Amino acid sequence: MSTETKVQEFAQFINGEWKPGCGGATFDVLNPADGEVVAKASKATAEDVNMAVQSAKETFESGVWSKKSQKERTQIMLSFAGKIKEHAQELIYLEGISTGATVRKIGGADIMQLILCLQQTANMSLKYEMTEHLPVMETFGPNRTQLVREPLGVVAAITPFNFPLVLAMWKIAPAIAMGNSIIVKPASDTPLGTLKLAELAIEAGLPKGVFNVITGLGSEVGEALVKHPDIRKVAFTGSTEIGKKIMEQSASTVKKVTLELGGKAAAIVLPDADFELTIPGVLLGVFFHAGQVCEASTRVLVHESIYEPVIEQLAAMTEKIKLGHPLDPSTGMGPVISEKQMNKVLDYIESGKDEGARLVCGGKRAEGPGLDNGYYIEPTIFADVTNDMRIAQEEIFGPVLCVMKYKEIDEAINIANDTNYGLSAGIWSRDVTTANEIATKLEAGTVWVNEWHVFRNDAPFGGYKESGLGRELGMQVFNEYTELKSIITSLTTENKQRQALGLIF
Ligand code: NAP
Repeated sequence: MSTETKVQEFAQFINGEWKPGCGGATFDVLNPADGEVVAKASKATAEDVNMAVQSAKETFESGVWSKKSQKERTQIMLSFAGKIKEHAQELIYLEGISTGATVRKIGGADIMQLILCLQQTANMSLKYEMTEHLPVMETFGPNRTQLVREPLGVVAAITPFNFPLVLAMWKIAPAIAMGNSIIVKPASDTPLGTLKLAELAIEAGLPKGVFNVITGLGSEVGEALVKHPDIRKVAFTGSTEIGKKIMEQSASTVKKVTLELGGKAAAIVLPDADFELTIPGVLLGVFFHAGQVCEASTRVLVHESIYEPVIEQLAAMTEKIKLGHPLDPSTGMGPVISEKQMNKVLDYIESGKDEGARLVCGGKRAEGPGLDNGYYIEPTIFADVTNDMRIAQEEIFGPVLCVMKYKEIDEAINIANDTNYGLSAGIWSRDVTTANEIATKLEAGTVWVNEWHVFRNDAPFGGYKESGLGRELGMQVFNEYTELKSIITSLTTENKQRQALGLIF
């Protein structure tokens, strides 16, 4: 793919049409690989939010989507998946010029995930019980009771910069499968692919107004969505800091919220770990997408008997990761998302040095042909980290690995759990029985054994502790996008069978 770009303009996508923001203002979208402006997007205001919510609500109430049968909705979702496949190159390009993600990540992981998520969520929705019949019960009079699942109405999805398409789809797919309308607000650094996705949905036959995208500042547009009385649910993925704000803001309208937040995963390397699997696995776990992954294995706890050889091999293999332009297929690691993020990560690296961690490799902004104007950071490994250091406790969200030593497995489990986060964890060992026992003791929503970054659309994903609330993916996700109603119908015409009358007569 050519690395040359020309600045494109993107309006919002509301009610099936491209609509510039009411105030006419725009904001720049930059390419993290060189800091150049690649696009201008509409800077929406609260007025745009009101308009988008109104139109999504009208669409919902019209029944054009919410009253369709599950089978009809599934068919349109499958053709939406087909459209994504057809336009994969364009999506890869839009994401490649604006997110810093490599084409290997976008093509090899994101697009495949998007398509599978849509297809599998659509198919799983056919098996989801929208109506359940309870056995007849005599207490207080015989009755027949139905439990009915109904769509919520208009859902707001607020997404982060690191996996803009996939994390939007984790919300769009279950929301529309259940008949809701949705408004997605992507991160301001990375709105392009999500906007294109909305256009493809309409081409696939999704009625106008079911899937809308509004762009603008989180503190303005995001907040207006969260506080809007006609938004029935907020599905948020982002930092724990903003997640807490969203939970507070949702309280005034008692909104349903799901929160997918930060992480500080630990990978425990047991003495019998297979180095052939563990070394590349740990490095993929932490350096994939330049470390900007919520469930990344940022802390690695290594048994004292293999501590130095593991560090040596991690450092040697790190040298093989090629930094470069995201659109170059040979690139293994691209830049971080912004100058601000780069400086934040570099500050953490300095704090690691100040607190006495041993710098094994990396440790600074990357330099070299093609890298100098971008926000590239050398993949960095610190050894002799202790769990009280800032680099071990706070989410860095960059290519920084913290290696720690342990003696006893209980000590490793305590260190792994000694964090406010609880999104993911992992174990590397030849003994999968022991590893699975350890998995039960780790406070995390996902635990990998001899694996990392592997997702299934039928396996729920979410966090313990300050890593989140609720789950995405899996059959359970449909509970998060529906209301549950009990319809209790009397089976008698005889008052004498209605014991409840005796309570007052
Ligand atoms: P972020 O700063 O929290 O932003 C996430 C989204 O929230 C963006 O769309 C942002 O809009 C919006 N936002 C900001 N302030 C808001 C407010 N006051 N009200 C409503 N919305 C607001 O996160 P990020 O830097 O994009 O992403 C990195 C974080 O996401 C990391 O902490 C990572 O761990 C987490 N994450 C979690 C998961 C998971 O599944 N658990 C997955 C991926 C990422 P603007 O961009 O306009 O500010």
